[in-house]
Amino acid sequence: MRVTFYGVRGSIATPGLSTVRYGGNTVCVDVRLSDGTVLVLDAGTGIRELGRVLLAEEHRGVIHSLITHAHWDHIIGLPFFGPIWRKDTHLVFHPLATAAQEKLRHDSILFNEIHFPVRSHDIPARIELVEPKDERWRVGSAIVTRIALNHPGGAQGFRVDDADGASLCYLTDNELAPPGPAATSIDELARFSRGAGLLIHDAQYVEADMPAKRGWGHSLVSDVLELAKRAEAATVALFHHEPERGDAELDNIGVTASSWLQTHAPATKAVVAREGLALEVAAPK
Ligand SMILES: [Zn+2]
Ligand SMILES: [Zn+2]
Repeated sequence: MRVTFYGVRGSIATPGLSTVRYGGNTVCVDVRLSDGTVLVLDAGTGIRELGRVLLAEEHRGVIHSLITHAHWDHIIGLPFFGPIWRKDTHLVFHPLATAAQEKLRHDSILFNEIHFPVRSHDIPARIELVEPKDERWRVGSAIVTRIALNHPGGAQGFRVDDADGASLCYLTDNELAPPGPAATSIDELARFSRGAGLLIHDAQYVEADMPAKRGWGHSLVSDVLELAKRAEAATVALFHHEPERGDAELDNIGVTASSWLQTHAPATKAVVAREGLALEVAAPK
């Protein structure tokens, strides 16, 4: 499984000199399964560049998409995803959180002439919304499982288990230690993520952001490392970066995270996700 980050920023795009190394595009991750299936995680502004790559590859097959929730930073790139402007594209949206799915079906939020000039029925690509039926289903060579996350308005996380044994967990936007009752506890998430080759998790905050941002639906880096340790993930990718955080601060977060893991979970490696980072996820040995 090959995973490439096209957008790693949370909340709002942050172009500019202070974010040039990690990147300012909002969340979008390209996953290529072992059978070549293209699976796109979220559709923030990073999806524009992925669209360029898919067009350059002359990709003509189905493009599968998993959207965690419909906050702007996760969907705003869709109108600029080049493949939707081609008739030969078939884009399949897999179960969104059920409420969001219903809303999208009846009232396209983005393509309604108010927020974007083209209406949804004038998009040339074939767009399919798969009805949510189950918590587990097949996409290409993988089995996808979803889980409810702790986020205002709801969000869902995904686990992708490929036929060759490689596995990925994508958990954003999620508050591991929410102030009220959790939709899913850290223990349940550790079980869900058990042995993942790559755990991508929202790590927007550090202790200095608290208590002001408690309840906002994002996690402390330290809680994410604790989850990675409990799950015994091979690699944890810190993701959905705080818009106010510049490159130098993200460098520091990476150094601190790696040194914490060396002491507390030496089998787990930390990376701070950045645009263009490509990771090969292998099956456990
Ligand atoms: Zn977000
Ligand atoms: Zn959100």
